[in-house]
Amino acid sequence: MIHIDTDLTTRYLQDMVRINSINPGLVPGSAGEGEIARWLASTCESLDLEVRLQETATDRPNVIARWRGSGSGKSLLLTGHTDTVGIENMQGDLFDARIENGRLYGRGSFDMKGGLASILGAVAALRSGGFVPEGDLWLGFVTDEEYASIGTDALVKEVRADAAILTEPTSCQICVAHKGFAWLTITTQGFAAHGSLYTDGTDAITHMGRVLSALETMERDVLPQRQHPLLGRPSVHASLISGGLGLSTYPDSCQLRIEHRLLPDETGDQVLQLWKTTLRDMGANDPQFQADVTLDFYRPGLEVERDAPIVQALHNTVVQVTGREPQYYGMWAWLDSAILGRSGIPTVIFGPGGEGAHAAVEYVNLDDVFTCASVLAETTMTWCG
Ligand SMILES: [Zn+2]
Repeated sequence: MIHIDTDLTTRYLQDMVRINSINPGLVPGSAGEGEIARWLASTCESLDLEVRLQETATDRPNVIARWRGSGSGKSLLLTGHTDTVGIENMQGDLFDARIENGRLYGRGSFDMKGGLASILGAVAALRSGGFVPEGDLWLGFVTDEEYASIGTDALVKEVRADAAILTEPTSCQICVAHKGFAWLTITTQGFAAHGSLYTDGTDAITHMGRVLSALETMERDVLPQRQHPLLGRPSVHASLISGGLGLSTYPDSCQLRIEHRLLPDETGDQVLQLWKTTLRDMGANDPQFQADVTLDFYRPGLEVERDAPIVQALHNTVVQVTGREPQYYGMWAWLDSAILGRSGIPTVIFGPGGEGAHAAVEYVNLDDVFTCASVLAETTMTWCG
């Protein structure tokens, strides 16, 4: 089996955790992905890869590295995001990359610089092992996953591959599905009038109360009827609400913003149609009730078949490296893999374990980082070899 240089892989991870790459979309004025991109570019160059920076916003480049295959074998993309969330709720030195009891601590260690270190550790091992790929091995280090995913949106315009592995943390289990989401705005229209004039005014806020009650029914009775073996049921919740003009005035409008979490086969358009029908039915017996709905943003979920070649290849190398059958699961949270999947690249998620994504204490298990590096290296050998 291929030998992973654990010291080198640890050093890669420490270097990356020490670089602040907080997403400026999430935390205005923060460092962004420029410095870590330059570090990744020079590290990939030191591994003899062809490297290119792909600007996704000012000083926020993706790093695209290519190990050109010698022939016509299958190509593989190993990918992950370089940005992190903020540190408002954290304590201590957040960027010292301290190691304690096999855990490496710091913002981004778990989500997801540990996964990036696995990729680099795998490539370093393949290089020093004298591996010669037939198909291309691509590395995609992308910006902005924690906000709007402009990084992966840009990446799929440049990189075509026969499969991809996204190394978001999965505790070395194989994630083959995750949910999508949709954001909608519902507006109820009332009629503004002096607070005493019940004869004239139409109260848009109480009308929104009916919408909220319909949402509750949808969440409790309707959505649970759909079930996915790995993801459970879809869900909806109210996110933001605003409306009203003053204490002594009938409100002329009320706005509610909601979020649906979707199963992989559900689309934003379906949710929009569901709400259009619901609102139309609610207005059927009450001409005063006026409401409409818009779909503001939508990202699909992901599902890759268990017998997809990349899942099989990963399965076999997990058995080979760990001596155990891998576990399969689905993730509720949305990930960049949906964009890769939609672009036609069969994508699976596999990364190290740890704890504390977006939380006050964050760490990644170093042994998992090394295990993932081994699995990625072995999978690359069978896939691109
Ligand atoms: Zn992540």
